[in-house]
Amino acid sequence: MQDLIQEAVDYALTNSLLKFNAKFELVHAPLTLTPYPISREILEQMITLTPLFNQLMLKVSQNADFLTTHLEQAARTDHFVKELLAIYQESNATQPYQLLISRNDYMLAISPNSPPLLNPKQVEFNTIAASYPFLATQLNHLHQFLYNRQFLGKESLAVGGKVFENNPLSGIVDAIAEAVKQYDHQNACVLSIVQPNEQNVFDQRGGEYQLWNRYEIPTIRLSLEEIAEQGTLKEGHLMVQGQIAAVTYFRAGYTPDDYQSPAAWKGRRLIETSSTIDVPNTAMQLAGLKKIQQVLADSKILRTFVEEDRACQIEATFVGLHLLDDTIEDHLGKETARERACRFPDNYVLKPQREGGGNNFYEEEMVQQLRSLSEEESHAYILMERINPPPHHAQLMREGDVVETSCISEIGRFGVCLAQREEILFNRDVGYLVRTKAADQNEGGVSAGYAYLNSLCHDR
Ligand code: ADP
Ligand code: MG
Repeated sequence: MQDLIQEAVDYALTNSLLKFNAKFELVHAPLTLTPYPISREILEQMITLTPLFNQLMLKVSQNADFLTTHLEQAARTDHFVKELLAIYQESNATQPYQLLISRNDYMLAISPNSPPLLNPKQVEFNTIAASYPFLATQLNHLHQFLYNRQFLGKESLAVGGKVFENNPLSGIVDAIAEAVKQYDHQNACVLSIVQPNEQNVFDQRGGEYQLWNRYEIPTIRLSLEEIAEQGTLKEGHLMVQGQIAAVTYFRAGYTPDDYQSPAAWKGRRLIETSSTIDVPNTAMQLAGLKKIQQVLADSKILRTFVEEDRACQIEATFVGLHLLDDTIEDHLGKETARERACRFPDNYVLKPQREGGGNNFYEEEMVQQLRSLSEEESHAYILMERINPPPHHAQLMREGDVVETSCISEIGRFGVCLAQREEILFNRDVGYLVRTKAADQNEGGVSAGYAYLNSLCHDR
């Protein structure tokens, strides 16, 4: 075991599997030594779903009436949603190209059928700052190495067969380079929007170096405040440090924490006003809100965006999603979703319109929150049925210390989609992220400190 740990730590440190911890010390990223076993069928099902969801979200983001209608009520009590919606409504953006870099997150749930089957159920669809494409790629190399050198094997718990290959970074870099090419300007760069004290900086850097090494496209990293200070408009182009920002890639800007000064909002408005291809544009960020996920779970509404066969495939991944004062009527009785969740707190998660982990409410805290939210405030939240994936054993490693415990895993599929207005130029799945956490942990998220990066391997 000690050999395995030493091999893994050295490989991680040598191959940029790095992040800063809360004390801002440089450490290897939290990772597992035991890949998560999955069947090829489930994997292929999720890969097929990626372009379907991308196309759905593209259509949603291009439907101004829909976004406004369904977000207006949340915006009344949620200041962050209100600001984003205002920027969207003020904007007269004319950029015809739209690039989406997405990650569709699932957990596997056991169906009641016999024999019981595992089905991917959607946790959420990320349209902004989908993180870990580089570290997931590096971790996959680490797991391949441990497996091929036979450090990982039969003796490791939860390990099935060969590790599934994974390189989401390469597909994301190709997509950004293609968008820069479509922008078609000399002296173009990618502008990366970052947080001033980012702990996950190497995940971002990995993509920037690949953009340079493979395409000679430079990246400039700035915070929203710095854009307000340094950015200018020239014939509609967003200019930074003498270069045209052909693509603006948001790796920050998804949380109110990134907008603590009016200057940050000014930076955001400057981006929106310019002709840069912003990844995502404000419409796509709004489309990724949890409120929209809840609205799309209505099968009639879903079918206004996608045809029947696709709607069926998409909807098979949904669990119950409710407004707090929706009526639920079934064999357990008739009551509001809020009452139902208070009666069965273990079966629900309460979610505000936030990203980045650590924002949801569970169990007793959820009940308290549900009891305190007024009717008006309730529109800024959704209630989601809890997904209970089967637990598996895993070895979790943080800063060289390994614990072995019962865990659950969440699988995200990265996708890229470039459109010129309604016309899709490409739309594909590019790889995965697995995050594994202790089974008794409610929240997920590696950056938020709950989960560990992982890979998939063949089940046997
Ligand atoms: P965020 O935007 O903050 O990432 P998520 O909706 O992804 O919000 O929720 C954060 C974490 O909470 C997830 O990664 C997952 O571990 C857990 N979670 C969220 N929704 C559910 C659910 N319906 N069932 C079980 N766990 C959930
Ligand atoms: Mg999430």
